[in-house]
Amino acid sequence: MIPFSPPRMDQKIVDEVVDTLWSGWITTGPKTKKFEKMLTAYGGHAATLCVSSASAGLELMLRWFGVGPGDEVILPAYTYAATANVVVHCGARVVFVDSDTDFNIRPDAIRKAITPRTKVIMPVDIAGWPCDYNAINDLVKEPQIRSLFQPANPEQEKLQRILILSDAAHSIGGEYHGIRTGRLTDITVYSFHAVKNLTTAEGGAVCLNLPAPFDHDLLYRDLNAKSLHGQTKDALAKTQLGGWRYDIIEPGYKYNMTDIQASMGIIELERYNDDMLVRRKHIFDRYTAAFSSFPRAELPLYENDERKSSYHVYLLRIRNISEAQRDAIIRGIFSRNVAVNVHFIPLPLMTYYRNAGYRIEDYPVAYDNFSREISLPVFYDLTDPMTDTVIDAVVSAVGEVMG
Ligand SMILES: *Cc1c(COP(=O)(O)O)cnc(C)c1O
Repeated sequence: MIPFSPPRMDQKIVDEVVDTLWSGWITTGPKTKKFEKMLTAYGGHAATLCVSSASAGLELMLRWFGVGPGDEVILPAYTYAATANVVVHCGARVVFVDSDTDFNIRPDAIRKAITPRTKVIMPVDIAGWPCDYNAINDLVKEPQIRSLFQPANPEQEKLQRILILSDAAHSIGGEYHGIRTGRLTDITVYSFHAVKNLTTAEGGAVCLNLPAPFDHDLLYRDLNAKSLHGQTKDALAKTQLGGWRYDIIEPGYKYNMTDIQASMGIIELERYNDDMLVRRKHIFDRYTAAFSSFPRAELPLYENDERKSSYHVYLLRIRNISEAQRDAIIRGIFSRNVAVNVHFIPLPLMTYYRNAGYRIEDYPVAYDNFSREISLPVFYDLTDPMTDTVIDAVVSAVGEVMG
């Protein structure tokens, strides 16, 4: 069986993790701080806070911005549940909007969804393809849109507009006009979950890139405390001479990353751009070369003059098929010992969100993308002969179902 996306594992990662285990620092400590600095240098943004997951990071930042009951947060209907669930946790209203044929949120649909209650927009770089950030960033700065914004706390007063909090769970290393995700919006959150491009088993990072007058050093300290019960000193600071006394300035969360996780991240990031991304692009290019001569295949966009993907998942669509035919094709692919997936089942189709009143009919492009989509395996150790097996399995399964 060709698996879908096993993590890259080798002696270098094992050695770094073992080094951490023997060091005695297994919770947040020097390696987490080092990983944060490496991420800041990689993305080119102002500061990075490592956290226990992207979900934790997104929720932390919604709470930092004071999002709560009565507020609205705009996000795509086509995403993983984490993006919407964190908004529900905060007591705010999820406002779904439709996607474009490139799978990403539509800026014109965002515009129509903005109301005086809108506090945050959460774009998602689906499969690693950056959203149209010029359009989204310009939109929230338009005088007309700004004048709708009703600041209700000091952070909102400081920003004076809707916050852009991007869910970059798929897109570390993706680029828009030569700028990497991390520096494209006010706040960007990465995921380092086991299936993501860069993994720490579980983990995430909050990249800060806010405009003046936000002070990123102060903000980092504030968020660091918020991610650790509102404690003024973390475990590392408490080991310093006379450092035992600490204070609790607010009832914070327990969202910190451990040094065990960070040690995996350090090795992964060191070789991410010149090794991992190169491998993933090679696999994307092989799929594209093969499926180009196959009229039923609709190929995903992953590179043009403006944008570059992080090649997270290869979102193949089959033309002119129903959802049931797509499901049958997937069964056929699995029967040929290849694991595939679907990214994503739109959230209005999920029981919780359907019961909350969202209707898939309101998101026709998201539904069309989903109903014809098959995500192909992309991972570091996927060899050329394995990609050929995947391609053959897809072509014969489509032939079998569609004749
Ligand atoms: C994986 C994923 C998340 C959640 O990441 P965690 O680190 O598991 O919390 C959020 N959004 C999207 C789009 C994802 O794919």
